[in-house]
Amino acid sequence: MKTAQTFSAIAKQISDVTQTSFEIENTKSISGGDINAAFLLEGKNQRYFVKLNQANLLEMFAAEFIGLTELAKTQTVKIASPITFGQTDKNSFLVLEFIEFKRATPKSETRFGQQLAQLHLQKQPYFGWKIDNTIGSTPQPNARSENWVTFWREQRFGFQLQLAAQKGYGGKLQILGEKLCERLDDFFIDYKPQPSLLHGDLWGGNFATDNENNPVIFDPACYYGDRETDLAMTELFGGFGQNFYAAYNEVLQLDSGYKTRKTLYNLYHILNHVNLFGGGYASQAEKMMQKLLAK
Ligand code: ADP
Repeated sequence: MKTAQTFSAIAKQISDVTQTSFEIENTKSISGGDINAAFLLEGKNQRYFVKLNQANLLEMFAAEFIGLTELAKTQTVKIASPITFGQTDKNSFLVLEFIEFKRATPKSETRFGQQLAQLHLQKQPYFGWKIDNTIGSTPQPNARSENWVTFWREQRFGFQLQLAAQKGYGGKLQILGEKLCERLDDFFIDYKPQPSLLHGDLWGGNFATDNENNPVIFDPACYYGDRETDLAMTELFGGFGQNFYAAYNEVLQLDSGYKTRKTLYNLYHILNHVNLFGGGYASQAEKMMQKLLAK
């Protein structure tokens, strides 16, 4: 099936779910994603943002749709309204409200800090999530747990470590990783995290503002977990200004142990980068583990 046919199947599904006829007049490719092809589909008075990938990745889009829906329900940070997802012979797809993105300003970063803290403040029932999803294109298991440290050990750090072993990253990375697994409880002696709904992949490339300067987050890998993990990821590749951190802290203060745990939490993403991209990320992960084990 050609892309044109995929687009017309998507347009038909949009018309069905919105109960408003949608005929595509123009399509535009959108760059900036890591995993999927992205497009703007324009009709006479409607615009939609569409992500496309292979047909067998339907579940990835279903999980993103559910994550965005749950984030939207909190009415804290703006997200693009999820419209529909589905599959053609050749592709799976996700359709969202199209939002014109602008770069964040200091003012919108302040608002985002306040709003993210409000999102994290809402109590959630357990660690994990209702379904498994993906982080980048890597599977992310989310089996329900009452114990955060066990959850982190088995379903986050341990899962990526095992994946790395399967991909041939043995030796030092595995030895340090196993030691760290044994020591995990030490990082939580005076700190008992509560489950918060997390964005889950909150690097600077997944945050922008709309034309009215409202902060917008997208491309989530949602689950219920320690809010410090979202904060840690904002620091991993930079891109969030001081206004953001000050505003967050004013609503919800960070624990003094965050400075240490942020390395532990970002290790998950660096191990994911080892598994996705290889290269220098393995030695970065080893350095992070050595730093943590020296504590
Ligand atoms: P991927 O899943 O491939 O990483 P993203 O969700 O990051 O894709 O989206 C790719 C790019 O499309 C983003 O960098 C952003 O610039 C743009 N984008 C994302 N969501 C929307 C939206 N709802 N409306 C308009 N543009 C969007």
